[in-house]
Amino acid sequence: MKKLTDSVQCLSGVGPKRVEVLAKLGIETVEDLLTYYPFRYDDIQTKELTEIADQEKVVLKGLVLSDAVVSHYGYRKSRLSFRMMQDHAVINVTFFNQNFLKNKINVSEEIAVYGKWDAKRKSLTGMKILGGKESEIDFAPIYHVTKQMRQTTLVDLIRLAFVEYGELIAEWLPTKLLKQYNLMARRPAVEMMHFPPDQRMSQLARRRLIYEEFFEFQLKLQQLRQQERDVNEGQALLYDVNRLKNFTQTLPFELTNAQKKVTNDICRDMRSSNHMLRLLQGDVGSGKTVVAAIALYATVSAGHQGALMVPTEILAEQHLASLNELFDPLEVKVALLTGSTKAKERRQILSELADGRLDIIVGTHALIQEEVIFHQLGLVITDEQHRFGVNQRKILREKGLNPDVLFMTATPIPRTLAITAYGEMDVSVIDELPAGRIPIETRWVRPPQFEAVIEWLNKELQAGNQAYVICPLIEESETLDVKNATEIYEHLQEQYQEKFEVGLLHGKMKASEKDAIMAEFKENRCQVLVSTTVIEVGVNVPNATVMIIMDADRFGLAQLHQLRGRVGRGKKASHCILVANPKSDVGAARMKIMTETNDGFVLSQKDLEMRGPGEVFGAKQSGLPEFSVGDIVADFAIMEAARQDAAAIWQVPDWWQLSEYALLKQKLFNEETTNTWFD
Ligand code: ADP
Ligand code: MG
Repeated sequence: MKKLTDSVQCLSGVGPKRVEVLAKLGIETVEDLLTYYPFRYDDIQTKELTEIADQEKVVLKGLVLSDAVVSHYGYRKSRLSFRMMQDHAVINVTFFNQNFLKNKINVSEEIAVYGKWDAKRKSLTGMKILGGKESEIDFAPIYHVTKQMRQTTLVDLIRLAFVEYGELIAEWLPTKLLKQYNLMARRPAVEMMHFPPDQRMSQLARRRLIYEEFFEFQLKLQQLRQQERDVNEGQALLYDVNRLKNFTQTLPFELTNAQKKVTNDICRDMRSSNHMLRLLQGDVGSGKTVVAAIALYATVSAGHQGALMVPTEILAEQHLASLNELFDPLEVKVALLTGSTKAKERRQILSELADGRLDIIVGTHALIQEEVIFHQLGLVITDEQHRFGVNQRKILREKGLNPDVLFMTATPIPRTLAITAYGEMDVSVIDELPAGRIPIETRWVRPPQFEAVIEWLNKELQAGNQAYVICPLIEESETLDVKNATEIYEHLQEQYQEKFEVGLLHGKMKASEKDAIMAEFKENRCQVLVSTTVIEVGVNVPNATVMIIMDADRFGLAQLHQLRGRVGRGKKASHCILVANPKSDVGAARMKIMTETNDGFVLSQKDLEMRGPGEVFGAKQSGLPEFSVGDIVADFAIMEAARQDAAAIWQVPDWWQLSEYALLKQKLFNEETTNTWFD
């Protein structure tokens, strides 16, 4: 019998070779193929040139005015250019390394080019020449493909899959919801994604599939919540209130009102028998670490263990140091566990964790994933990372643990996104900075002004201040990355000769080397620290008052704000200098916003507007789920509707026994063979 889960090899004419090529695209089953949706549609609603934004991807349609000229440069690189006319305007079109297109460009013929618009030069960097049938040009689905699999071949295969398996695409959304939202049925929706007769149909199909995708996600979140409730009713951490009060009195400063309030929120959660799932938001420098320390102290005084998870080793070490400073080491035993902990020490730590001699463990993400056994884990705190999501909680639960969980972040995740990523969690916000802070002054300069910045920096250093100089991570090449930082390091060393010490820190260094440099900087034995983004989060050196960020336009706003937050931690006025030559208007706008506000929330909201959530939070790291059709931000209204609908269904007692949800039950539980919760 045919099934949608059949291998693509079951399709007529698909042999092992095709199977291999399809696998590279992540397509293994017929269902994968049918739901391999286009990532966009080429739409040739010709725009007025004045309406096109700088760097926008568009299709221009016009008359070829000149023959294509090919020139070669560099090592096997080529450039092909020609002129075309649209609405009386002459536009230069350039293709890079595609000189084989030359034959397609004929003077006086109509042409349609898809590419990126440069508003200043009035030119188009071509990506593709659209051709063939008129209808195909006007509205054509575009897929991610590889060299071995062309668009047309893929479309032919999808068409074939429809002929042979289309019948099997079944509805699973409850009829009530289909009616309520006037959603297209599943089979036509899948079909219209690939073969839309016009734009309207493709939009209707997308709407249906976005809803379906979000709804399924929300149902699973609800299910997870249900499980969390069932597993854990009643791990109340009965800490000693007096001991906790004494502890807060020993702190070197008084807590801000905001810190007091969130500490109360957290302590109330821990004391109650409900499972804590709380997000603590506070701008950089607002003092989250001490709140974490209090929560950990409470856990320990209740006879449980605590874990503090951070994204980098440097940060782990810094937290270890702060905790040891705050706690009386005789009373609370804290240890550090990271990738570079030596085997012998590691064995010791693991055994002490298992029998309860250790109270608190600080470390990187591996903390909860490796063969770490706790005696009685009561609280997990994650700092500055969003990676600790649904899956990690599941890992802990599978170990028989269901500790209270506190996420701390300086990136104000909008409440709506927080719900999406983690389910319904509670949110506490530290909305005030400790008194006496002077706002950081931010300036944006172009690269030629860098020398002037160095001269200015000289004065700052003479005044006894310290500075960071940050070079961006260049994604394509870690080597280039290091080279960049090294060059600047050498340049500064030359400039400051015997006057000041300059240090270098980058991702390729050994942990021990990094530590040594960080320690030098902390102790002011080195005044300038040149670094790649390894220091991005959490580092606390109050005497550093200058943050210089090279190629600042390569960073997201949230990241820039994090970096900037490394200064302005003491009583002295601090400065942040962005050195950037942004290539687009949006890039320039982003630099400008940085100089205008110090409010992390405003920045992250702007960032969301200008880029997608994946880019802001780093799609891979964010823990925010990735959807194949929907976009959490743009389609937020649909997400919210799906959330309410899913919650309503889980409110119905034993909903899975009702006939109206038979298909839903099948969809949700059939594939999950591991799900023992549901009989
Ligand atoms: P973040 O929220 O960015 O993690 P930290 O916890 O690193 O901030 O705190 C930043 C600095 O502010 C630290 O040097 C910390 O000791 C100090 N700090 C925290 N709370 C207070 C307070 N209530 N009053 C004065 N200084 C504080
Ligand atoms: Mg911090």
